[in-house]
Amino acid sequence: DVELRNASFKDFVDMPGMDAFEWAAYFDAYIKNWLARDHWHYRQENTSGCLPEVELNLPGNPNKSFVALVHNDYLGFTQHPLVKAAAIAAIEQYGVGTAASPAIGGQMSYHRQLEEKIAAFFKRDSALLFTTGYTANTATMQALLKKQDLAILDMSVHASMYEGVQHTNVKTFVHNNMERLERLLRENQGKYRSMWVIIDGVYSQPGDLAPLGEIVKLCKHYGAYLVMDDAHGVGVIGDTGRGVIELHEAWKDVDVITGTFSKTLGHLGGYVVADEQLVNYLKFQAGQHIFSVAATPASACILKSIDLIDDEPWWRTRLWENINYLKKGLHDLGLDTGTSASAIVPVMTGNPGLNAEVCKWLLEAGVYANQIGYPAVPKNKARIRMSVMATHSIDHMDTVLNAWEWVKTKMNIKNFE
Ligand code: PMP
Repeated sequence: DVELRNASFKDFVDMPGMDAFEWAAYFDAYIKNWLARDHWHYRQENTSGCLPEVELNLPGNPNKSFVALVHNDYLGFTQHPLVKAAAIAAIEQYGVGTAASPAIGGQMSYHRQLEEKIAAFFKRDSALLFTTGYTANTATMQALLKKQDLAILDMSVHASMYEGVQHTNVKTFVHNNMERLERLLRENQGKYRSMWVIIDGVYSQPGDLAPLGEIVKLCKHYGAYLVMDDAHGVGVIGDTGRGVIELHEAWKDVDVITGTFSKTLGHLGGYVVADEQLVNYLKFQAGQHIFSVAATPASACILKSIDLIDDEPWWRTRLWENINYLKKGLHDLGLDTGTSASAIVPVMTGNPGLNAEVCKWLLEAGVYANQIGYPAVPKNKARIRMSVMATHSIDHMDTVLNAWEWVKTKMNIKNFE
């Protein structure tokens, strides 16, 4: 039997003896079975937006309203009146589209303002925008790393980084394992034109943080460049919400910072922040910037959400109250949240079949959380992944904790080992 090994499209079309249509027919049967068995709420439609409570219409589930822990809208800015007003004002001013790539007419004044603002946010010179965080990563990696280079990836970096390094040499190290990283740097020093260490700031499945200080030291010692994607750290980590870079005061030590506007900043789009010359190079070398349409006018609202990170710091305070309350409650119930140190709080269940069942009972108890299994995480590391928001109340957190307690009793589970 063919197994769905990972989420890369390459695997789908490389099926021996099958062309894409034959493989699609096979895959269709496979996926219908998979959806019916474990993943019945994949692409579940929500008619409410990123609210702490959402309406869902789940077949066979009597509930209509659920406490939702599935959005990366950590500070609630998708719903913030000032952010919405900024999007509406920009649409009034510019219309709804840009209808050209930035290179040939699509570049508007809000793009430049956004580039300047996100660069300044990280105390750096320059930035370049992309239409998603995924594209920012693939574009930047493809433009900077060539056949003579080596990409050294933490195994848990986002899929977009893996895609971006397909045309260069790649080695991976066990997640956050500094000995393995050092070994790779030592063994490969001098063998390539340049070595690039590629990490996330906050890792999206465990919700833990890169030991950036140690990584910076290793990169300096072995002469490697450092790329960090802190998609989940911005707005959440650090006294002023600059992310993992702020914890280590590593402003000048990360050669290339990438990120997204689609999580804390509440909208859509990606960016790369670096020195001016590198950014200028990308303006002419990143095909995804040159040949793809510029971000729509509504993205001018991100100017406001970046301001709000400084102007309304109480959202971050609220968020951490919720995170700490939830984690303490889960630990009191004997549940394992792994290495989480951010707004991403997983509960490790280990077993994929069990994970699906836990998710189903949580829904029955009115809690909508994501079940994450293979191939997103290793087979024995299945988990329920919860994203906490500042707009959740302590009552919401209590609903979640009561649901977990109920599920544990219902399934007669002491712990998930
Ligand atoms: N990097 C990380 C670490 C992510 O978790 C994500 C989103 N899943 C991305 C990049 C991609 O960002 P976007 O959704 O804006 O394409």
